[in-house]
Amino acid sequence: MLYRRLGKSGLQLSALSFGAWVTFGKQVGRTQARELLALAHDRGVNFFDNAEIYNHGVAEQVMGDVLADLRFPRDSYCVSSKVFFGAVDKPLPTQRGLSRKHVMEACTQALQRLRVDYLDLYFCHRADPDTPIEETVAAMDTLIRQGKVLYWGTSEWPVEAIHEAHRIARENHLYAPVMEQPEYNLLHRERVEVEYAPLYEAYGMGTTIWSPLASGLLSGKYNDGVPADSRLTQPGYEWLRESALSKERIGKVRALQPVADELGTSLAQLAIAWCLLNPHVSTVMLGASRLEQLEHNLGALDVLPKLDEAMCQRIAQAVA
Ligand code: NDP
Repeated sequence: MLYRRLGKSGLQLSALSFGAWVTFGKQVGRTQARELLALAHDRGVNFFDNAEIYNHGVAEQVMGDVLADLRFPRDSYCVSSKVFFGAVDKPLPTQRGLSRKHVMEACTQALQRLRVDYLDLYFCHRADPDTPIEETVAAMDTLIRQGKVLYWGTSEWPVEAIHEAHRIARENHLYAPVMEQPEYNLLHRERVEVEYAPLYEAYGMGTTIWSPLASGLLSGKYNDGVPADSRLTQPGYEWLRESALSKERIGKVRALQPVADELGTSLAQLAIAWCLLNPHVSTVMLGASRLEQLEHNLGALDVLPKLDEAMCQRIAQAVA
């Protein structure tokens, strides 16, 4: 495993990490989750990502039970949660958003579900137009001073809101966001490469990037239709199916296949390794509904040295 610093912080995360969205508590029960987390940890993965909204808190319960059962030393891994969408179906106004009330309560609840004393990383899952940024920054600072959170960050915030959070933190001597959690993959590059570019230099922010396979699309599995047991057939994720699948996107995935063939690798490993070429990516968060997928995707590290300048140009042309 490779390890990378989370931006300018001293925290070293595994270059490949593992998240629970859609899978834990839905496609993946406790037995399978145990196998997945055990394999990941055994291969040096030291960051497990979660959120209050994932399967309405059940993903965190499953992860918490399994982590307790596996008895990994607490100092051998990092675990995250994210606050904003709420953990219950149809949340009341006090049960969602980034108010001090919800941020504090959501953290307490995540700690209980994950069965840990502190969250290593805690993210504001989206920006909240109904809460002053001052209130959220102060709440995160409180959680850090209470020892309940070690590093806080944002996820998919507009760049101006992140600048504002840093200004507030600097002027009030509060802890500032250390990392962003954006989508980044061969089909979705703009925000990480262009919009967020000033953040890396100005504040030394790191990124924990999500959907390296664009929900599986970049494995090529959707090239000839939607497999019955795949993510895009899951009830409740019809919106994802609509946004993920298009002729244009499938065309780009097809165009990448000859490049992967030439490298002697799979589309999935190529797509994951490509994310790691960006030095501002601190960790690529993998998703997997099966053990074989995780095993295969961890092999992306072997592809990284093969991605020279010429290969990168061919990849860029394929998805242009
Ligand atoms: P991916 O884009 O890698 O999609 C993972 C899914 O693709 C798997 O669950 C599986 O689905 C399929 N898959 C994975 N590997 C293979 C393979 N080798 N061959 C074929 N199919 C494969 O990542 P995610 O979208 O899951 O994102 C990773 C993590 O990022 C999440 O778990 C979550 O922690 C985080 N995240 C954060 C978000 C945010 O807003 N902050 C939003 C989304 C994710 P299938 O069931 O079809 O087999």
